[in-house]
This record gives sequence, C-alpha cells and structure tokens, in this order.
Amino acid sequence: MRDSKEALVIVGAGAAGLWAALQCARAGARVLLLEKTVRCGTKILASGGTRCNLTTTLDAEESGRLFGTAAERFLRPSLRNLPPRKVVSTFEELGVPCEAAALEKIFPRSQRARDVRDALEKAVRAAGVEIRCEQEVLSIRPLPDGRYQLDIAGQTALECQTLLLCPGGRSYPSTGTTGDGYTWLAGLELEIIEPVPALVPLASSQDWVRELTGIAVQEAEVRLLDSAGKELMRRRRPILFTHKGLSGPAAMDVSGIVAATQAKARFTDETPRFVLSIDLCPETTREELRELLVKAAGASGTPRLSRALENRFPRRLVDAVCTQAGSQPNPPMTSIRRAQRHELIEALKGLRVEVDGTLGFHLAEVTRGGLALREVNPRSMEINRHPGLYAFGELLDIDGPIGGLNFQAAFATADLAARHASSRQA
Ligand SMILES: Cc1cc2nc3c(=O)[nH]c(=O)nc-3n(C[C@H](O)[C@H](O)[C@H](O)COP(=O)(O)OP(=O)(O)OC[C@H]3O[C@@H](n4cnc5c(N)ncnc54)[C@H](O)[C@@H]3O)c2cc1C
Repeated sequence: MRDSKEALVIVGAGAAGLWAALQCARAGARVLLLEKTVRCGTKILASGGTRCNLTTTLDAEESGRLFGTAAERFLRPSLRNLPPRKVVSTFEELGVPCEAAALEKIFPRSQRARDVRDALEKAVRAAGVEIRCEQEVLSIRPLPDGRYQLDIAGQTALECQTLLLCPGGRSYPSTGTTGDGYTWLAGLELEIIEPVPALVPLASSQDWVRELTGIAVQEAEVRLLDSAGKELMRRRRPILFTHKGLSGPAAMDVSGIVAATQAKARFTDETPRFVLSIDLCPETTREELRELLVKAAGASGTPRLSRALENRFPRRLVDAVCTQAGSQPNPPMTSIRRAQRHELIEALKGLRVEVDGTLGFHLAEVTRGGLALREVNPRSMEINRHPGLYAFGELLDIDGPIGGLNFQAAFATADLAARHASSRQA
C-alpha cells in the first residue's frame, strides 16, 4: 500500500469483511482489511458443523421473508443485488463447487468449511488487499474534515475517508466477536437495539427432558407459547433433546424471541417463561392417529403403544408422552380408554416442554439486535448521519433462521456496501 490515508479501510475479516474486501478491490479500490484475531474467517471455519452452510436454495424473495417484516424490507435491495444463486456462482468461480442439501441448505461439495474460507481469503489476497491480523480496533472517531480516525491497540492511529465496519456481533465471543462495534456506534449516538443471543439451544430444567438426552425427532413442528398460551412462533424443523434442554434447528430458530422477551423484562419482577409445544408427528392428523390407535387396540397379540405407533419413536420418548398424558408407560393398547386415548393424541401432537431461557451468547450462532436499521441506508449500507461510514453483516439488527440465511445476509449487505464504498473511493 502506497499511502494508507488513501486506502479504504475495512474492520473485521469475517464473512462480510472478506466478501466486501474482494469486491472493493475488484472494483479498483485500494483496501486495508484489519482483523483483531490471528486469522481470517474463524466463524466460517466453525460454521455448519465445519461444513459451512454458505447460503440457501431459496430465492431472494423467499429468503428475505424469513428475516421478519422490518429486516425483509431493509434487505430487499441487497438480496436483489446478490441473491443466493449469485453467492453460489461466486464461490464456484473461486473454485468451490457447491451442492444443495435437505432443508434448503447449500454446502461446498467437499463438505469442508475450510475450503470456503481459504478460497475467499486467497481471492482477497490475489486482488491486492492488504490483510493485517492481530489489529484490534479500539475506537473510531469522525474528524472535522469528514475523515475517520481509528485507534488500534499498540499501533499508531489510522485515518481514512471511507470506513467499512463489519466486526460482527456478540455471539460465540471465543471467535473474536465481543460486541466491539456496538460501543463504537453508540459513541456516535447511533441507536443500538439491545443485542441478545439467537440461534442458541434452549434451557429447560425439567428432569424428564434431560432423561431424553440424545433423542432427535427429524420431523417435528414446534410452537413457542408464552405463559398465557399465546403462540409466538411456529417452525417445522428437526429437534434434539439435550442434557440442558432442547437443541436442533427447531429449538434454535425460536430462541431469539425467548432471549429478546426475557431481556425486555429484565427490569420487572418476573422472568418470562415459555412452553415449547412439540408436534412429534406433524404429517399425521389427530383423526389419523385415533384410527391408528383404535386399529391397534383390536389387533391380535395385545400390542403396546410403541408398537401401535409403528416404532416411530424411541421407547424413552413414548414413555415421556405417556407420563404427560397421565398414562402408565407404554401401556397395552387394550387397556387404553377413550379419554386416555385423547390425552395421548394431544401429547403426541403437542408435547409440552417448559423453557427457562437460552444457553447464552457463548453458544449462540448469531446475535439478535445491533445497529438499528433506521440508521443505515438499505441501498448502500452507509450510515445516514455519517457519509463514508458503512455498517453491515451481523453488526446490523438482522438475524435469520438456520439454513445459510445469515451468511447470505452478511454477503449480500457486504456486496452492496462494497459497490457503494468503492465508487466513492474512485
Ligand atoms: C458455530 C457457528 C456456526 C454457524 N453456522 C452457520 C452456517 O452454517 N450458516 C450460516 O449462514 N451462518 C452460520 N453461522 C452464523 C455466521 O457465522 C454469521 O452470520 C456470520 O459469520 C456473520 O458474518 P460477519 O462478517 O458479519 O461477522 P463475523 O464472521 O463474526 O466476523 C467479524 C470479524 O470481526 C473481527 N473483529 C471483531 N472485533 C474487532 C475489532 N475490535 N477489531 C478488529 N476486528 C474485529 C472478528 O474477530 C471477526 O473475525 C454460524 C455461527 C456460529 C458461531
């Protein structure tokens, strides 16, 4: 780099920062990418169980809808500019063939997150970006001449006229994301929506839940209910019982609401409690279940409930259903009376788990909350009150469900920021 004052500076070499750096450099800008930790793209490496679910098979409109009304509106220009299929074609051009998997997911064909991170970093370096690791940005400050100053731990301060901020959120702080960006932006008097953990396992202190540890139900439909029984969210995804409560996409997708509601109630006397109602067989109606059970009761050989349910569920889970229905464990079908059959069907269609809260930021895949969307121009990612200052990726008040949506949002917002910021620099 000939003159760092003329460089466009990007803070945070995660998914969004690497993508933005590549696009800015390809557009002809001189780019300096600063990263706090020793390496780029740590979360990419950890993602998707180290397989990296990098985007979705859904189109721009369908994926946008999964972010909720306000974020959907905000993301419309970025998802139109960089829809999921363009993320796939970009990675394929970078030498990472991709393939679709269940639940609308896209993975690298190699199933190796490292290939995604390495290809992106290699392309960034090849495009001439200067990457400096172990550079912890401490603060940012607008200067009277419209430029920005960055204070960096142990280094002389840097100045630039175009500054792109993508230091992530507060989730998985062990990877370097400790919410630093919120402090910088709050210091500029910008609104920060309180960050809470999202896509995180749920905690339940019920003993019977713990006894089901390790059991997964691939086809489950969950409904998150508040203490008054009102449905807050519904999701059809696999669920997993754990020694601390519930995990798997169905539980994790509803966790942001649990965390946000509890955070809001922090200053009141009561901690809001929730129930997750799990339909263990959403493909089967109550009537079909009733017919199945009635038929089994008349069958020869006095089958028990687990057999009547065609051995679809592990015995421990059948016993939990029975307990919740007020029945003996795995009863013989001939002993089940009409009222009891009704209770069993209700428990199968809505096994109720009390939810105490979430397991917190250290296990959260993303952060809910962040820089308020009203502070940012959705067509450029430029902060409205600060020309030349851009914010994107997880730093924004945007989070989506599991399924490659969060990388998609990070790449799409980064791409738009890069387009605008590099044209400003030209
Ligand atoms: C375990 C796990 C699995 C996941 N799996 C998936 C998945 O399969 N699919 C999916 O879509 N999403 C997944 N996610 C979410 C996804 O990783 C994030 O949505 C995405 O990484 C956000 O990108 P980002 O660039 O905004 O932030 P990050 O990727 O978090 O990058 C931010 C970068 O900024 C750096 N930084 C922070 N503070 C400073 C500072 N002060 N100075 C300099 N640098 C700083 C950080 O060290 C980090 O490298 C997963 C997350 C986790 C934790």
